[in-house]
Amino acid sequence: MIDSKPTFTPVTQPFLPPLDEFRPYLEEIWRRKWVTNNGMFHRQLEEQLCEYLGVEHLSLFANGTLALITALQAMKITGEVITTPFSFVATTHALHWNGIKPVFADIDRVSMNLDPEKIEAAITPQTTAILPVHVYANPCDVDRIETIADTYGLRVIYDAAHAFGVRIRGRSILEYGDMSVLSFHGTKVFNTFEGGAIICRDAKTKRRIDNLKNFGFVDETTVVAPGINGKMNEVQAAFGLLQLKHMDHVNTERARIDERYRKAFRNVRGLALHEVPEHCTRNYAYFPLLVTPEFPVSRDDLYEELRAHQIAARRYFYPLISEFPMYRGLPSSGEHNLPVATALSRQVLCLPIFPDLEESAQEQIIEIVLSCAWRNRCAS
Ligand SMILES: *Cc1c(COP(=O)(O)O)cnc(C)c1O
Repeated sequence: MIDSKPTFTPVTQPFLPPLDEFRPYLEEIWRRKWVTNNGMFHRQLEEQLCEYLGVEHLSLFANGTLALITALQAMKITGEVITTPFSFVATTHALHWNGIKPVFADIDRVSMNLDPEKIEAAITPQTTAILPVHVYANPCDVDRIETIADTYGLRVIYDAAHAFGVRIRGRSILEYGDMSVLSFHGTKVFNTFEGGAIICRDAKTKRRIDNLKNFGFVDETTVVAPGINGKMNEVQAAFGLLQLKHMDHVNTERARIDERYRKAFRNVRGLALHEVPEHCTRNYAYFPLLVTPEFPVSRDDLYEELRAHQIAARRYFYPLISEFPMYRGLPSSGEHNLPVATALSRQVLCLPIFPDLEESAQEQIIEIVLSCAWRNRCAS
């Protein structure tokens, strides 16, 4: 087959191990004819992920959004929940699907995560929980959030969809809060095509979550809660087991790409990089670039310039969740309440980063960005 189209570079691409390596897993499923409902691969993946991530209680899900929705159900969260507008829309949708009122608080300029002071200011008698996001896998201020939660008697559920494998001072980031939720979608660092997980603190809670993701069944004839179908199937779980074997390669390649971008953009006037504190490990899930007003061209012009060269950089997270039609009428959605999030969502541009990104493609991306930095306007 001859492909004469110019090569298209997506912002991310799932890592797919050699197909031959997957065949034995499929043969095993065909032989056993057990395709879902806590199968052998499902159990193995839960075990191996606990070990890899350094957590004790993990429940697999069909996707991250169902995991978020179920986490809120499992803790019977109601009323108001404080969350960030600077995230993927599923974070707030999960509240909406539980009949919970989202309350947006502004983010910190450096971490781009919920600002603890703004969380505290948003608490009302109706507040029951906080739903922060470790955006771009950069840890939230977990210690201050814990203090606030303890002081006001609030639950904390972390949307850790970006934060696979991240540790703070050697401890898994997933061990903070009452629960954490992962996504294994194809665009994430570790993927099972679609998939997700809830990490919780004790075996009893895991049992409750496992019941909820299987319609509320505890045995053949007993239904104890209005559950949902959130189960991960055996093909997904098998792929996860294979993917886990390749995580060293995935991490090394991502780190290499991240380092090349950092070197190229470190001292460019008008560009700011997202820095992660020393005591936190990184997973190189995203490469967000802040295109500030000092840069010769706007964020959107740089985005268009890359698009013109078949490079799909993405404006994550623009628009803010609070700007979508179903949320913009909320009292907390006003721009005056979210000045930092609003400013950053108009400056941020995520550049392509994934294990199979060719060096030549990355060089081209760097060249285009630098050509915009050097000239007063983009060369077209
Ligand atoms: C990807 C993502 C989700 C949703 O996960 P799915 O597995 O796609 O349902 C939720 N929150 C954030 C922050 C995400 O990036």
